[in-house]
Amino acid sequence: MRIVKLKKENLFPFLEVISKEADLWAPVKKYEDKHVFKAVEDFSEIDLDYQRTIIPPRRILLPPKTNMFEATQNTYKEDFSNVSKKIIFGIHACDVNALVIMDRFYNFAYDDPYYTRARENTLILGYSCWPDEHCLCKSTNTHIVTEGYDLFFSKLDTHYLVWIGSSQGDDLIRKQPSLFNEDISDKDIQTYLNWQKEREDAFQAEIDFIDMPDLIELKYNDPLWEELGKACLACGSCTNVCPTCNCYNVYDKPILGKNASKIVRCWDACTLENYSEVAGGENFRENRADRLKLWYTHKLQAYISKYGKPACVGCGRCIVSCPVDINVLTVGKTLSGEKVDAFWKRFNLQVKKEVRK
Ligand code: SF4
Ligand code: SF4
Repeated sequence: MRIVKLKKENLFPFLEVISKEADLWAPVKKYEDKHVFKAVEDFSEIDLDYQRTIIPPRRILLPPKTNMFEATQNTYKEDFSNVSKKIIFGIHACDVNALVIMDRFYNFAYDDPYYTRARENTLILGYSCWPDEHCLCKSTNTHIVTEGYDLFFSKLDTHYLVWIGSSQGDDLIRKQPSLFNEDISDKDIQTYLNWQKEREDAFQAEIDFIDMPDLIELKYNDPLWEELGKACLACGSCTNVCPTCNCYNVYDKPILGKNASKIVRCWDACTLENYSEVAGGENFRENRADRLKLWYTHKLQAYISKYGKPACVGCGRCIVSCPVDINVLTVGKTLSGEKVDAFWKRFNLQVKKEVRK
């Protein structure tokens, strides 16, 4: 691995060079403090001073709705029109780690050609960040990157230190090597170490993920799940914003006037009622409590037993998006026996009072 230095004023010239052969996606402000990843041509739109995008970058690889193939009675033709050369710039460490999880998921038992082709054509340019009160990534050890990126930019006072994580990343640097400098001084190293230390100390939220698989098992029949089920609105927000969620549905869309159909893949959410409905109308998880239990079992237990780490990268999106405070922090703390001030607790108190009247 090589580390080079880039002056801040050379960032946009570098992006200009590399965006000639690929669509450049970067964070832009949507409204107030809400950001999204967007294909950008005007670099002044890029806003690197963001906390977390509303929807994670997996949307760029597998959009919410894509045509997989067109089928007739005798044949089918795959549709890879979503695949194009892309560079995603400005991804934080948690989201880089989430893409590593997605890579494993879509290649573990079977190769998913739609994800794989999109991923093979996409370069990941990570960018350093500073935690807010909802960032849990230090607890999941995903506040740093060791894989999954082509370049990673750490912002210091006057320049960036740029980690080269792949040969494709190295190729990008070589497009205009004069923009970079290999002369990293002792002062640069010390500045970086100081920044790292301050950042480590800045994390506020934490949760012990090590105990989670056992706690999920031990509390599988705990009344907590029914309490959560009572409060959950089944809106699916937690799933849509989570960078490691990957459930999808596939349906036929008949093409009028042709004896053919498009086969469409769209995002789905195990927190939604229809997700577990099968032919004949039977639904194996009609109860919201059961669906939440599935979500958390998957995140905090099943994935750990299969891949050795949780399917949570601590991005904090479920924390800021759930309207009733059901998120990995409040649920994790409650499972650990800690007191949390969450909506479902306040909600249940009100219910009890009303019953007493
Ligand atoms: S469970 Fe919540 S904090 Fe963890 S990765 Fe998903 S959205 Fe982010
Ligand atoms: S847990 Fe929260 S975000 Fe998720 S479906 Fe229920 S109400 Fe919506």
